Amino acid sequence: MSAKLDTKALKQLDQAHHLHPFTDFADYARHGGRIVSRAEHIYIFDSDGNKIQDGMSGLWCCNLGYSQERIKTAVADQLAELPFYNNFFRCSNQPATELAARLCEVTPDRFQRVFFTNSGSEANDTQIKFVHRYFDLLGKPEKKLIISRHNAYHGSTIGASSLGGMSAMHQQTMGLDYIHHIQQPHWFEEGADLDPEEFGVLAAKALETAIDELGEDKVAAFIAEPVQGAGGVIVPPESYWPEVKRILDERDILLISDEVICGFGRTGRWFGFETYGVEPDLVTFAKAVTNGYMPLGGCLISDKIADVLLSGGGEFAHGLTYSGHPASCAAGLATLDILEDTQIIERGVVELAPYFASRLMELVDHPIVGQVRVKGLFAGVELVRDKSSRERLAPASAAAVYCRDTAITQGLMVRQTGDAMIMAPPFVTERSELDFLIDQLAIALDKTAQHYGVTATPV
Ligand SMILES: *Cc1c(COP(=O)(O)O)cnc(C)c1O
Repeated sequence: MSAKLDTKALKQLDQAHHLHPFTDFADYARHGGRIVSRAEHIYIFDSDGNKIQDGMSGLWCCNLGYSQERIKTAVADQLAELPFYNNFFRCSNQPATELAARLCEVTPDRFQRVFFTNSGSEANDTQIKFVHRYFDLLGKPEKKLIISRHNAYHGSTIGASSLGGMSAMHQQTMGLDYIHHIQQPHWFEEGADLDPEEFGVLAAKALETAIDELGEDKVAAFIAEPVQGAGGVIVPPESYWPEVKRILDERDILLISDEVICGFGRTGRWFGFETYGVEPDLVTFAKAVTNGYMPLGGCLISDKIADVLLSGGGEFAHGLTYSGHPASCAAGLATLDILEDTQIIERGVVELAPYFASRLMELVDHPIVGQVRVKGLFAGVELVRDKSSRERLAPASAAAVYCRDTAITQGLMVRQTGDAMIMAPPFVTERSELDFLIDQLAIALDKTAQHYGVTATPV
């Protein structure tokens, strides 16, 4: 490794040469950002000497924190043994083979096949190809349409951003014309005066309406995150998924569950579809599968699809140089070992979740909090000026940005989407550290209320 650069030189170099994802290039080139130098347990340390508690598990991926030596060693050992070989042309490697088999063990029995990619975006692109291929091989080539939801996040490639429902992304790229978007189950934003459960059923029925309008003979699949993550941790009303399940069960439409965030424990079960009792045909995973230490994503394919894909029809014309990269798969295997050996989903998420929820619910009475949403170790807090009218504090999500920046200054990394503060703490967070998270968030909320002229009546 090259010698450490001093923080000023590093920031200048970065501003001069490095284009960052989801960043205003001009703004960054002028003002720069934060250089993260190292991390330990659930803390990140930047080049200015700040220590910040991570309330986001990196980017929803380092669910087991930053100090999992077993994963680091597995990667180093794998690089020493076989740093790369591709999986094209009838080749394979042991970590890819073993990880495929292990992923099939932790999912319901009907999942027996895995395709590897390097990211969630690529995995969702691959799902489109699987779905199209499936119906082509079944002799139903007219079934090509895919239904998704407004404000969904399925990644950034052209395919994945088209699948997603982020309007800012659609404005900058011409999307695929065979993807249709329906209402999201976001009661706080769209439920008006309806009871949440009543709204949940209505939001689900938007799927039924869309399928009926587009034609069941044309629609191939519905893709959804069990809980929308990047959209603002939108926990659907309990009535939503059972109604979606009913609609799909009555029709010849596949369900793709995008488990890139929910997968591997976030909502308290191994997968979000288990939390909500739905039975997807295809599952997308990425992020936490390697605890974020190495890039890896993929598609889990149920027997219903696999039986057709393996029934003939020749080569599947799709693949990535690094599909099934040995070092990434070694990281995945070590991550699954830890999840199983420590029972951290049961002992961490399931045990911590009620405490997390009860502490978060204390914020409901805060003068600028409109709603608290929580599922497992996954939460969103909506900021408002007026609780009953749901009027926002400031245009363009400025208040949530202010609240986020304030929290970071206080040593807590949380994010903001729209007017919601969002959190996904690592499963290894201790109770006292969860207390720090909530306490610092509460202080940041107080400061935000004050900044925007809302009298902070003591809670
Ligand atoms: C992050 C994310 C993706 C995209 O994954 P990348 O690895 O960033 O390409 C897809 N779906 C969901 C639900 C995500 O949160």
